[in-house]
Amino acid sequence: MSVNAIRLSRSGKYRSPVMPGPTVLTPTRAVEIRNALNPESRFSAPFRPMGANSSATECTSSSVGTVVDTSLLKQIKHVDPDRRTTTVQPGVRIGDLVSELAEYGLELGGGHDLMSRTVGGAVSGGCIGPSFGDDGAFLASQVESIKLVTPDGKPIEIRSDQQNLMHAFRLSFGMLGIIYEIKLKVRPIRTFAVTHRRCSFDQFGAVAEKVANADVGLKFYLLPFRDRVYLDIRRHSPGATGTHRIPWKVKDWGESTVLPNVFKSINRIVPMTGVRYRLIDEISQMTQGIVNNRLVNTGSNSTALMSSAKSDDAAKKLNYCTWFFPAADFAIVVQAYRDFCLRVQDASRFRCDMPTVGFRIGRDSSALLSPSFDEPMIALRAISTQSKGWEDFAIDFGDFARHWGGTPLFNQTQEVPADYPSQVFGSRINLFRKIRRQFDPENRMMNPFLSQYFL
Ligand SMILES: Cc1cc2nc3c(=O)[nH]c(=O)nc-3n(C[C@H](O)[C@H](O)[C@H](O)COP(=O)(O)OP(=O)(O)OC[C@H]3O[C@@H](n4cnc5c(N)ncnc54)[C@H](O)[C@@H]3O)c2cc1C
Repeated sequence: MSVNAIRLSRSGKYRSPVMPGPTVLTPTRAVEIRNALNPESRFSAPFRPMGANSSATECTSSSVGTVVDTSLLKQIKHVDPDRRTTTVQPGVRIGDLVSELAEYGLELGGGHDLMSRTVGGAVSGGCIGPSFGDDGAFLASQVESIKLVTPDGKPIEIRSDQQNLMHAFRLSFGMLGIIYEIKLKVRPIRTFAVTHRRCSFDQFGAVAEKVANADVGLKFYLLPFRDRVYLDIRRHSPGATGTHRIPWKVKDWGESTVLPNVFKSINRIVPMTGVRYRLIDEISQMTQGIVNNRLVNTGSNSTALMSSAKSDDAAKKLNYCTWFFPAADFAIVVQAYRDFCLRVQDASRFRCDMPTVGFRIGRDSSALLSPSFDEPMIALRAISTQSKGWEDFAIDFGDFARHWGGTPLFNQTQEVPADYPSQVFGSRINLFRKIRRQFDPENRMMNPFLSQYFL
């Protein structure tokens, strides 16, 4: 069966009962990638690179062809404190790199909130966090140069002075080739102060525009069924002390391991919907109250990162979908989002059991496919441990987001109609498509999911 013959469901997932499945190649040396992509090789297209595979869409997989799992290319090749750079293979986990850099008193800039993702996946897909100041919104903005194998098997290097090309390669979702080495900018560890606030949706709406447009790191948790918002606001604070890892680790453990696992159990053992969700919301509220308000009040990019390798298993099983909304409109959007969640639950009985997570995303024009290319945005990530009803929820969330001018990120946003990205990315997506055609005229890196947007 040809790739194009595979049926595309509304969820953007492909279903075929009799597909043989792709070949999975797990290279330990870069040369194996070059050999595999050589048009004469025994490996067949499409080729899809994969890091930790934590994306929410079908950008890392294929029903046929070859998935190139880069997780064993995990060498930190060099840290250069004088030039403030580090050179790594793509499969290095962000957490491992952060620990290594800390030995030199250095840290990563740019947005990143997750330890167990790979550097390759983070610069080719979206990687955001509560960044601020001169940090780029996406970790990809920190890329100085990359080495990759082109779709026809040729090794090339792209440097940041090749600005137009670099803009296409950052956030390129593995469509322009497979990266085998990355040089990132790093910086001395900077401390920030964290303020926590708790408020209602109306109160948040009243200050949302001010907060969204201020130069602060903003992460928040929405509990629409409790009319509660928990804010984590970060500001530079060179004098801050006591930026220990332990409290952040406990916070991470609470949010990314305890909550999903407890909610899964509750969903299994409490049959009555009303009681179940009351309990779930109670626990969310308690966790946010204790973990966020009491535990941490200073940090740095080196300490305040989410998700250990262990908790990654729990995280991987979560359903999530992220949309980006203009920060200028967010005061209205956040209230509309609460109404939307209540409406969906009324109509379908489905609701997300985890709090919706949001970030302020500063303007970042370092990548053609950056959702915040033109203006600061607010990212909203709906998350659920429950799969039953999730697909329909993601469709409804997509309708809501498009109504409010939402912009997708191709590895984190489900249910994006094929013609929608042109409306929000405009000429930038056309330029990306043109560059993609030049690098991959035979569409060797394209699976059906990506083809619907980029052919
Ligand atoms: C519970 C949960 C929470 C999350 N929270 C956040 C969050 O706070 N912030 C955030 O930004 N994201 C978040 N994500 C989304 C996801 O983790 C990020 O987008 C992450 O950066 C992806 O990294 P990865 O290593 O898993 O990449 P993958 O999912 O494996 O790949 C991402 C993309 O990069 C491409 N790619 C991977 N390696 C290469 C390579 N060597 N060469 C070329 N292309 C390559 C892939 O083809 C794919 O298109 C979350 C996900 C989950 C499950």
